[in-house]
Amino acid sequence: MTAPRDPRGRPRLLLATRNPDKIREIRAIYAHLALDIVTLRDHPGVGELPEPGGTYAENAVSKAAAASAATGLPAIADDSGIEIDALGGAPGPRSRRFLGDEATDADRNRHVLDLLRDVPDDRRTARYRAAIAVVVPGREPRLFEGVCPGRVARAPRGTGGFGYDPLFVAAPDGRTMAELSFDEKNRISHRARGLRAAEPYLVSELLGDRGEEGSAPGANTG
Ligand code: IMP
Repeated sequence: MTAPRDPRGRPRLLLATRNPDKIREIRAIYAHLALDIVTLRDHPGVGELPEPGGTYAENAVSKAAAASAATGLPAIADDSGIEIDALGGAPGPRSRRFLGDEATDADRNRHVLDLLRDVPDDRRTARYRAAIAVVVPGREPRLFEGVCPGRVARAPRGTGGFGYDPLFVAAPDGRTMAELSFDEKNRISHRARGLRAAEPYLVSELLGDRGEEGSAPGANTG
């Protein structure tokens, strides 16, 4: 299929999200690709996207499919969350709505620490998981996954990232995700891993042999 292109000839890819933290991370992780990445913030006419809620995969496919159908663009969606073993894998796909719509990230993090108050260090294992769905018009949806293993700290630390990052220890040196630099997080995160898994499909469907930013004909002509 021929995707709409920007003046530099880069095919447009719609990120099916309005979440500014996800947008910033996904743009950085795909910065080397010759894609014109737009988001739902550029398409205010597209309403709330359906999240049926059962699994990350269902949510990701349904968001990407709805965004693509509403705009005619190839779309990519991330549905992600944290799975805490001592909580039986909760909150999982409900991570954003854990404690209801009015709660803040700080409320959710306090609640997690309360629930895990008596859980010893060796049982505080957890993982971040991201399902990445890509819907190219006229093609079946494709799904990719990224997992980042870690554990839940005893107190929040750091100011980077978003969501559960101040509690989530992924680095071997014990730093939380919120203590990593933006680039460090984007090398190891579940989102980065899922997006890297999706990259060959995006390249073959949208870019052909154009691949990396700068290798596309005319890519440096402004
Ligand atoms: P979604 O928008 O339904 O996919 O919800 C994702 C939710 O999972 C976020 O609102 C966070 O609560 C949590 N989450 C996903 N990815 C991250 C991350 O990279 N850092 C911290 N929390 C995350």
